[in-house]
Amino acid sequence: MKVGLVPTMGALHEGHLSLVSLALGETDRVVVSIFVNPSQFGPEEDLASYPDTFDEDLKKLEEAGVHCVFCPSNDEIYPEGFSTSIHVSGLTDTLCGKYRTGHFDGVSTVCAVLFSIVRPDIALFGRKDAQQLAVIRRMVDDLRFGIDILAGEIIRECDGLAMSSRNSYLSSQERVQASVIYRGLSRAAELVSKGERVVERIYDAVREVIETAPLATIQYLELVDPDSMKPVSKLTTPALLAVAVYFGHTRLIDNVILKP
Ligand code: AMP
Repeated sequence: MKVGLVPTMGALHEGHLSLVSLALGETDRVVVSIFVNPSQFGPEEDLASYPDTFDEDLKKLEEAGVHCVFCPSNDEIYPEGFSTSIHVSGLTDTLCGKYRTGHFDGVSTVCAVLFSIVRPDIALFGRKDAQQLAVIRRMVDDLRFGIDILAGEIIRECDGLAMSSRNSYLSSQERVQASVIYRGLSRAAELVSKGERVVERIYDAVREVIETAPLATIQYLELVDPDSMKPVSKLTTPALLAVAVYFGHTRLIDNVILKP
């Protein structure tokens, strides 16, 4: 019997549920974990205010046909004396890793613990968190977890905004303006389809679109290799264009693969 695991931090939306339905198609038993992992939040980040919609989450998972929901306490994951941290190097130097110190160590460590407890055959992650996906794949390979990692496509709102638990932080004005992120990334894809290969010109075009939103502040915009997460200076093979944008205190990420 094949077991699939979908790790989440709750506040579930269609993005999470798309991973659940992928898992249901690939395995016999689907486990969804809900754990807001403190070790992946920085001291200035939103751990204390992270949205909690636990009862609704359970209802959605039951309706989706999930077999088991695993909601461990902090002490179950990090019992007294817990002293291990997993660091995947290289891949975590760019993009979010550069701005969220220790974030991916927290992610790798909690996923390793979840994998050891649940012992799934397959674990599913969304492409929205493309760097996280690459880091987990590397860790699972390096540490020979023997788990297949499957990736789910990015699920978006009607205006293109990538679904995220953090979208609920946005004011109505910010929410309207947040659609510039996907519009910017789509502009990049369109330019590349018309033959543009100069990375700086692609950045300029994306910035131009995102900066039409007065409430948007770009944290990073970078083209990287989709596996190594190393910066790419020439678009010769498919590359990941990733962006992080602040709207007020809310930090949103998104990405697109650019195919020359
Ligand atoms: P989170 O609860 O934010 O930690 O996300 C749990 C899983 O859902 C991660 O693998 C995310 O990449 C994935 N996910 C989050 N948002 C989306 C989305 N809009 N589309 C697809 N997957 C998503």
